[in-house]
Amino acid sequence: MAVTAGIKEYQLLIDGQFVPAASGETFETLNPTTNEVIGRVARAGKEDVDRAVRAARRAFDDGPWGRMTPNERARRLRRVAEIMRERQEELARLETLNCGKIIVESRMDVASAANCFEYYANLAGQIWGETIPMNGPLLDYTVREPYGVCGQIIPWNFPILMAAWKLAPALAAGNTVVLKPASYTPITALLLGQICLEADIPEGVVNVLPGPGNEVGAAICEHPMVDKIAFTGETETGRQILRLSAGTIKKVSLELGGKSPNIVFPDANLEEAVNGSLFAIFSNAGQRCTARTRLFLHESIHDRFMDDFLAKAGKIRIGDPLDDSTQMGPLVSRRQCERVLSFVERARSEGAELRLGGKRPEKADLQRGNFVEPTIFDLVRNDMSIAREEVFGPVLSVIPFRDEEEVVALANDTIYGLAATIWTSDVKRAHRLAARIRAGNISINYPVVNPPEAPFGGFKQSGIGRELSRHALDLYTQVKNVVVGLSEEVFDWYGRWPGGR
Ligand code: NAD
Repeated sequence: MAVTAGIKEYQLLIDGQFVPAASGETFETLNPTTNEVIGRVARAGKEDVDRAVRAARRAFDDGPWGRMTPNERARRLRRVAEIMRERQEELARLETLNCGKIIVESRMDVASAANCFEYYANLAGQIWGETIPMNGPLLDYTVREPYGVCGQIIPWNFPILMAAWKLAPALAAGNTVVLKPASYTPITALLLGQICLEADIPEGVVNVLPGPGNEVGAAICEHPMVDKIAFTGETETGRQILRLSAGTIKKVSLELGGKSPNIVFPDANLEEAVNGSLFAIFSNAGQRCTARTRLFLHESIHDRFMDDFLAKAGKIRIGDPLDDSTQMGPLVSRRQCERVLSFVERARSEGAELRLGGKRPEKADLQRGNFVEPTIFDLVRNDMSIAREEVFGPVLSVIPFRDEEEVVALANDTIYGLAATIWTSDVKRAHRLAARIRAGNISINYPVVNPPEAPFGGFKQSGIGRELSRHALDLYTQVKNVVVGLSEEVFDWYGRWPGGR
């Protein structure tokens, strides 16, 4: 990766080599804090997709990767984790420079990404099938085999972590990968590709192609040599991915959007609920699929809760994300910033009561970046657009409720079903609600949790499949059934079949 006049040049990773795009085209990648150019990145196109997919195909069909023992694969995945830890500060800084995430969160993301590789290294030797009792002299067993070439398409809000969530289980299971990072945030995924090479993962096993979604992403979904697509991004893009993958009946897993409820009952520890709810909406400047964007407050505690919540939200330190004391950085792009502000305008025109923020901060040193203040709307109705559509920014809708029945109905009244949080000290109520809320990830008296050990994914239009945990291995392996005839009797097509029919 060369440096010209302070701007780094990044190339595509294809077949173990960093190469320019076939077209020679590049695009600029920016620092959202200043909107200055920090890198010039090779812009992949269809031809590059074809080159990368063919390399991944060869690496799967003929390369050493498929023949390695699980232990040999695991050793390399562990090495990836080690290198990430050794380079944590560098990777975290680049993540912050490219996506605007505060440095404290970037460090956590790099650490979590390393943990993810280690977790799947430990599972590489634990991918096994079943022996199935048969009604006759037959031995029947299943094995789980990798799909082959996996196309993986990821968003910009957790660039290195999403890359790890995708790569680690796919590689542990023995697949090869063509990974497409989001156009806004290509840098750390390319570095992770380089780290995979350093860790002795063979050429062609990991290919990384930054480029526009509707061209590069679409070409990956349509390529006949790709066996499986794993996508994280908006629900609308997920629909397109399904359509594009239909032509070749690809196996598809999707992690999509959310509009997750956060429910506070009067018997909750309110201080804990206030602090947890702040984190659940304003961490990563609200740009998380699991952001708890609808805060349901029981009417009896609404005012008390809001006094404390607004006071603390008003003190969130917005600023340079490289500064350790900053709590909220900029949004990823100017476009995202404008999109978020247009949601704010719509919410106001629909009658929601703006209690905090709703604009860009006025401080002079923040004008070049894509900053939006923490924004809180109160007395929102669940049928307003601000409570229905994914804003993907630091914007919260507060919705008062009267009783459990009402809040369950409101929480479930959404096309999404990614996550939910319940704050209560009544253990019966907590589990009753956990059962009734239609979402893939429920947290009780805890804001957000996605460690590699726990499955992650959405009900309804929030996705298909579960990432992380042992479940992710199901996304990257397919079941093969093997039946063995044990009888000495000769098989007779028109007569008796040993083992019965
Ligand atoms: P996006 O859907 O715009 O883009 C995601 C990726 O898809 C990018 O790499 C993009 O280039 C690519 N893409 C775009 N159009 C494509 C097409 N037609 N064919 C193939 N690929 C295409 O999403 P985003 O704006 O980058 O990220 C934010 C979204 O991601 C939010 O909706 C958020 O909820 C979601 N998200 C979900 C999870 C989850 O696990 N459920 C996690 C993080 C983010």
